[in-house]
Amino acid sequence: MKEIVNSKLCTGCTACQNICPKNAIEMVENEIGFLYPKIQKEKCISCGLCKKACPILSKKEKEFQGKCFVGYANEIEKNTSSGGIFPLLANSVLKENGIVVGAMLDEQMKLKHVAIEKREELEPLKGSKYLQSNLGSIFSYIKKEVPHKKILFVGTPCQVSGLKSFLNKEYENLICVDLICHGVVTPFLFKKYIQELEVSKKDKIVSFSFRDKSTGWDTYSVSAQFTKKKYTELQKKNKYMKLFLANLALRESCYNCQFKINSKSADITLGDFWQVKEFYPEMYQKEGVSAIVVHTKKGKDLFLKIKDQMNTKKCKLEEILYGNMCLSKSVTIPLQREEFLNDMKKMNIKKLAKKYVKTSIVKKVINKLKG
Ligand SMILES: Cc1cc2nc3c(=O)[nH]c(=O)nc-3n(C[C@H](O)[C@H](O)[C@H](O)COP(=O)(O)OP(=O)(O)OC[C@H]3O[C@@H](n4cnc5c(N)ncnc54)[C@H](O)[C@@H]3O)c2cc1C
Ligand code: SF4
Ligand code: SF4
Repeated sequence: MKEIVNSKLCTGCTACQNICPKNAIEMVENEIGFLYPKIQKEKCISCGLCKKACPILSKKEKEFQGKCFVGYANEIEKNTSSGGIFPLLANSVLKENGIVVGAMLDEQMKLKHVAIEKREELEPLKGSKYLQSNLGSIFSYIKKEVPHKKILFVGTPCQVSGLKSFLNKEYENLICVDLICHGVVTPFLFKKYIQELEVSKKDKIVSFSFRDKSTGWDTYSVSAQFTKKKYTELQKKNKYMKLFLANLALRESCYNCQFKINSKSADITLGDFWQVKEFYPEMYQKEGVSAIVVHTKKGKDLFLKIKDQMNTKKCKLEEILYGNMCLSKSVTIPLQREEFLNDMKKMNIKKLAKKYVKTSIVKKVINKLKG
């Protein structure tokens, strides 16, 4: 077997690697830093389990039956990205001696999924990180623990679908939360950005936030805490965020994402309710507002457990979609993507931003006039 699924659709979810009884599948970085499964032919016994576990091959379309809400936590934590719903869900599971699995940046600024069991360990999991996280062998760990403990898994829709497809069984103990996701950037670009920032500031970064709300939720900044000083830059001026939002360095599967609203496996979906001022001005909070979609009975039960700790209002799916089309549709592949990926290997971030996302003077004037 050469490949499990067409590499254009492969999300790198690791379900195939974790299921292989002969450890014949390795996740290997491609030339732009994304992980793909590679089968070691000499170990493969052609059992076909990897194909059975692949969420792309076992994908089922479902009719949308979720309930939608606009909401925010009574106390919105500053390190969260939207209305701070994730820590409420996580603390509810941790209170019952459960496990929370989410994404954190390690000391080398690499993003990976980790499992925690204590409230004191929750901080680094909070907040969105705009690059693809490494799942390692977390799926196998979840399979081992889930018969005994409640587990909350948070990830992109493809990661949640990968986990469910790998487990191939409904566990009452497992609750999955996915994010409204427009795509993940290659870790290669983030590494480049971090290295260049450290060189320019002549200091080491100890922590990093992609969604620093000190300048507001809808006017957020990117910030890096160095050993001595903190560096903060508005998102609309930050070169990494501009490149991310231009969709130039997303994983190929993100341009043809198979896990939009009608093929989700999560119990709850979380995102930003960007259009809050238009539809529900009374719900606007400068610290952040969430879009919440509850898909299943398990999701509803957990949602009800934290209901007293948040302020929510029912809303329509169309209202969420209005500011978040990526919940139902993949982003378009930019014409310059190939050229960008080639340049990314040799140019620095400044040059890449100048070539691909520079705001023209005319646009700057229009933006200023628009306020
Ligand atoms: C790559 C990415 C793209 C997104 N795109 C959109 C979008 O287009 N529109 C929108 O409305 N919302 C988007 N979101 C979701 C949004 O930014 C918030 O994550 C979500 O609303 C939850 O916010 P919160 O305040 O409840 O909690 P937060 O504390 O912000 O919770 C974030 C949760 O996401 C997990 N997480 C963070 N980064 C990653 C990652 N790279 N991969 C997997 N899991 C991760 C964390 O472990 C944590 O559990 C995106 C998130 C990510 C990670
Ligand atoms: S199981 Fe996941 S990583 Fe493996 S081929 Fe399918 S999508 Fe790719
Ligand atoms: S856009 Fe789709 S394929 Fe890409 S990370 Fe998000 S869920 Fe996965």
